[in-house]
Amino acid sequence: MPLIPFNKPYMTGDELYYIKNAVNRGKISGNGYYTQKCHDFFKQIIGFRNCLLTSSCTDALEMTAILVDIEPGDEVIMPSYTFVSTANAFVLRGAKIVFADSYQNNPNIDATTIESLITLKTKAIVVVHYGGVACDMGLIMDIAKENDLFVIEDAAQAIDSYYKEKPLGSIGHLATFSFHETKNIISGEGGMLVINDERFDKRAEVIWEKGTNRSAFFRGETDKYSWVDVGSSFLPSDVTAAFLFAQLENLQKIQSRRKTLWNNYYESLKELEEDKVLKLPQVPDYGTSNGHLFYIVCKNIEERSQLISFLKNNNVHAVFHYLSLHKSPFYMKENKNTELENCDIFADRLLRLPLYYELDAEEQNMIIDLIISFFRKR
Ligand SMILES: *Cc1c(COP(=O)(O)O)cnc(C)c1O
Repeated sequence: MPLIPFNKPYMTGDELYYIKNAVNRGKISGNGYYTQKCHDFFKQIIGFRNCLLTSSCTDALEMTAILVDIEPGDEVIMPSYTFVSTANAFVLRGAKIVFADSYQNNPNIDATTIESLITLKTKAIVVVHYGGVACDMGLIMDIAKENDLFVIEDAAQAIDSYYKEKPLGSIGHLATFSFHETKNIISGEGGMLVINDERFDKRAEVIWEKGTNRSAFFRGETDKYSWVDVGSSFLPSDVTAAFLFAQLENLQKIQSRRKTLWNNYYESLKELEEDKVLKLPQVPDYGTSNGHLFYIVCKNIEERSQLISFLKNNNVHAVFHYLSLHKSPFYMKENKNTELENCDIFADRLLRLPLYYELDAEEQNMIIDLIISFFRKR
């Protein structure tokens, strides 16, 4: 039986056409024709107020840290159950990271614990919509307003997902997306900054273009092209944007397939959850699933290891991922005593199943049957 991989990047077939077109246009550096096409798509189709493509979500997160003026000693609250870039972007500016726990039944930041973590030094709250499922943005925005804090949405996994009627990424002051090949919409490496607060518009563009006013200069808004602020080379090549545009045009098709696969897993494994054999993802009333990832939560780490081996012996590659960042060697050097029980539970017990566009029904049924037989035989 052929191996079922954990992930397989989906190519729509239009990528090379648009890349060729970008090449023929003869201008393939950043902020070119396809970059604009992608920006227009996100503004017109998704409804974002303003956005800038970046070379990665990591880059976009680094831009947010510069934009909210993180200075050494500032504190930033975020979940411990996340990818390292969420934290690193702020550590690079000298911030102290204050990790929050997950909910018991959902890896997202437990918004009810945020207030107890706020001090006079707190500057921002960074939320992560895990698996594309919304955090409790209503409560989080209220807390931020009351305490005069910025909210940054790490929406790396959250394209085409919603909090109530609002697209994720449109709610915090700033938001970041990823188009890494493991996400729903891809460009190999790639990302985007979304700017929901107009105070950041001008400066974001400058930071994006190496700290220069190059974009304004090319629009004829200034007669000199100068160094005006800090910045870096955060913008992607137009070749990357051309690839991304091909994917964006197929957003609905890709999403529809991924959501079908997500629902199949959910419906087929529901009886195991009802029998309290395992736990499945919970989507709160205010959220949606965008079919980014599907996971089960095992009883303990031993059971998860056994299930991973069992699936591997049957040619299915399933993986776990985030280890609690509050227990990472880097964080523990300075902070030894953080206890976040729910986060540790997800780090030990959560297992992600293969979910990608080209996973076919037969393969998915095989995975589901394997999981059912693993749990029912015990
Ligand atoms: C993928 C991911 C990132 C990093 O994205 P890159 O585009 O690879 O930099 C950051 N945060 C979260 C939550 C992610 O899932």
